[in-house]
Amino acid sequence: MVSEKIDIPQDTLLVGIAASPGIAIGQTYSVDRERMSAVERRIAVAEVPGQIQAFMQAVQLSRSQLEEVRSAVSDRELAEHLYIIDTHLLILEDQMLLDETTALIRDEFLNAEGALKRTLQKFEKVFDSIEDEYLRERRSDIDSVGERLLRNLKGQSQQSLVGIDRQVIVVAHELSPADTMQMDRAKIIGFVTDLGGRTSHTAILARSLGIPSVIGLETVTARVPSGTPVIVDGALGYLVLNPSAETYREYEEKQRLYMNRETELLSLSSLSAETLDGCRIRLCGNVELSDEIPLAMRYGAEGVGLFRSEFMYLNRTLPPTEDEQVVAYRSVVEAMAPHPVTIRSLDLGGDKFAPEINVTDESNPAMGLRAVRFSLKERRLFKSQLRAILRTSAFGRVRLMFPMISGVAEIRACKDLLAEARAELAAEGIAVDPDMPIGIMIEIPSAALIADLLAREVDFFSVGTNDLIQYCLAVDRGNEHVAYLYEPLHPAILRALQTICRAARQAQISVGMCGEMASDPLYTLILLGLGFDELSMNPPSIPRVKEVLRLVRRDEGERLIAELLSMATTAEINRHLDAEMNRRFPGLFKPLL
Ligand code: PEP
Ligand code: MG
Repeated sequence: MVSEKIDIPQDTLLVGIAASPGIAIGQTYSVDRERMSAVERRIAVAEVPGQIQAFMQAVQLSRSQLEEVRSAVSDRELAEHLYIIDTHLLILEDQMLLDETTALIRDEFLNAEGALKRTLQKFEKVFDSIEDEYLRERRSDIDSVGERLLRNLKGQSQQSLVGIDRQVIVVAHELSPADTMQMDRAKIIGFVTDLGGRTSHTAILARSLGIPSVIGLETVTARVPSGTPVIVDGALGYLVLNPSAETYREYEEKQRLYMNRETELLSLSSLSAETLDGCRIRLCGNVELSDEIPLAMRYGAEGVGLFRSEFMYLNRTLPPTEDEQVVAYRSVVEAMAPHPVTIRSLDLGGDKFAPEINVTDESNPAMGLRAVRFSLKERRLFKSQLRAILRTSAFGRVRLMFPMISGVAEIRACKDLLAEARAELAAEGIAVDPDMPIGIMIEIPSAALIADLLAREVDFFSVGTNDLIQYCLAVDRGNEHVAYLYEPLHPAILRALQTICRAARQAQISVGMCGEMASDPLYTLILLGLGFDELSMNPPSIPRVKEVLRLVRRDEGERLIAELLSMATTAEINRHLDAEMNRRFPGLFKPLL
């Protein structure tokens, strides 16, 4: 398997951020997302037929590529997004595109690239001047078809993650959550990137999908060409380049152990998530796409604690209609019955962009028009989602949760719009659950500080530690350079969690956690001690957390968290927790792989 062409010393080790556990052994496939540029040049008369032919071949090739992508996607859940490909196919058939470009080659003696660039510019001008917002937005489809045509004209491969036809490990500078959701798990067996942090949505999705990955490697795209044999060790954050025969053997053994451990953990799925002293904690799955539900059930999820609804809005030009949303939510709710499903309203922005739907040119998107801020601005879009969620509540146990709430006024504004949606549906005679629980994510420091005030407004809290840590400690969750400062056990975070849980208890509302902190069994005992009723996580982590939960008592957790809260530094807290958990569970917290 070791390739002769690769000029990289055997067993070169690159260390990045462990984003998603598991071992992937295979060859790399580089994805370069740079935009193509077109060079304009005058051609001789004799070159005209050749340039016209090159252009027509690029059109033909683009068409067959799109058709291939289409058939690759058709049997998957994402088939509903196929209309984007159809739009691109229609653009390729557009007579104006074909005629104008060939006329520029023939009459103005422009090379094919230059002629295509001019035609595309003309198209774009026309679209930019259109008043109708929907039609104006079709410009991005033209851009994307233009990019494809140019790549084909220049003989460069397309950078699609959909059409990959063999098992590979993707190497990219950065992958968006939208890229990750397109990945065919049968083909993309692992990925590694230059950029990214452990709680970026790309990493979260990789864990949910069970794709081993290492991110934040900084220079992997520059150092590792396509076709390099590698091993991804997603638990330790290692990428081994050009592995020796001995390393292969070692990792094949690790892979076997990993699989065995997974099977052993799966056997916990049917057992109850109950402590030795009979305290039941609901362990739920975080879900981004409806096709993750069978996986969540396999791992024993007793509900969905966080349905990241915004993923439905990615990779498409128009938002899903109200009816489309009802179909998607209903399928999740019915599959999960009798367990509850917490649908979080749109959390677009931050690192999740639907370029056609939300604003992309903010200089500080994490603190910008994200989540409810965006939703409260785009009230029509928000109302359509609220109506869809309300309608779904007639078909099963639905809970509605608002993200990024920073104060009481915001939650009241959300509830007012919800009341409007309710009234509309009542007038239309459409059934809804009159008691659908309403909750909020606590993920902004201001919300943690006024948790007592917010608790009076809602039925439940769910703590989003991914953002809470990011905002409390001022550490960008997606930035590999500050990843070392991203500390779940910082005294400020423990105090914030304590404040939130106390406020919830006092108001007698339930309190869960759906941030990634909930998925690490190292923290299970302290979360129990803090008083969380529900922990929601990427489904593969559920059995690991349950394993610990079933072997402890709540009062032990209360004692431990009290000790940790008395300490002044993260290092001290880490040491104490590690020692305590390793004493109780020897070997369990050593990354096996
Ligand atoms: C969080 O912030 O912890 C959370 C669960 O939400 P998201 O990761 O989608 O921002
Ligand atoms: Mg969040």
